[in-house]
Amino acid sequence: MQQGKFQEDLLDSITRGIVVYETIRFYDGIPFALEEHYKRFLNSLSYITENKVSFKEFERYVMKYSSYDRVKVFGIIDGSLKLFALGENFLNNPINEVNIDVSEIRHADPSSIPPNLKSVGRPDLYIARLKKGKYYDVILLGSRGQVCEGSFSNVFFIKDGKVITPSVESGILEGITRKNVIEMLNEFGYEVEERIVELKELFYADEIFLTHTSRGVVPVDSMGKRIFYSKEISLEISRNFEEYINEKIRRGI
Ligand code: PLP
Repeated sequence: MQQGKFQEDLLDSITRGIVVYETIRFYDGIPFALEEHYKRFLNSLSYITENKVSFKEFERYVMKYSSYDRVKVFGIIDGSLKLFALGENFLNNPINEVNIDVSEIRHADPSSIPPNLKSVGRPDLYIARLKKGKYYDVILLGSRGQVCEGSFSNVFFIKDGKVITPSVESGILEGITRKNVIEMLNEFGYEVEERIVELKELFYADEIFLTHTSRGVVPVDSMGKRIFYSKEISLEISRNFEEYINEKIRRGI
């Protein structure tokens, strides 16, 4: 049976490789942190190919979908490197209550899967997401029991006015939202503690929020619908973050 070129490329990547990707959010048609996403995309690609994509080409794929809320850009290998992109609207689905839980799936150790290799269907994250049920996201613990991250988000918590998040050494994806939230809080004069976090600290936290490109800062209501958190400071951080991004975009950063 004859297969289309697209199907052939896809089959090749399924049978021979890993699909890497980036999700980029548009704010009124302008992509946020495009260069950071490009750099992370190049880094993911570096694990699977020596081929590179230029910033201009990456940008061309992204901008084809600038009328959407976000775009996903995929890199696949079928002998040479191929890019695909997909525009998606999601903002008309508001999120109200955000309940999270702890996943029973362990986060792969960085010695097995590099945390900064952002790939489609990465088994630990994918299975955790499949099993998360009604929860917004689930938190994965690392091989030493340390708190790592959600299946598609980074996690922060607030205790006695201090903002704390698992350090890069915990074995996490260096989220672009995470980095920008830390920068914003530092600019506002707040220090963010980046360190190894124990699970019990999340149980005793005053507030928890998640960060990811599609939604920015997401204040959390509960852990397992058993522990409930205040959202006072997280809501303020979330609002400030939207302004911070819009200001960065206005200044062309
Ligand atoms: N952690 C994981 C495992 C992710 O998949 C993502 C996003 O897809 C994030 C964190 C958040 O990263 P970013 O803020 O760059 O979207």
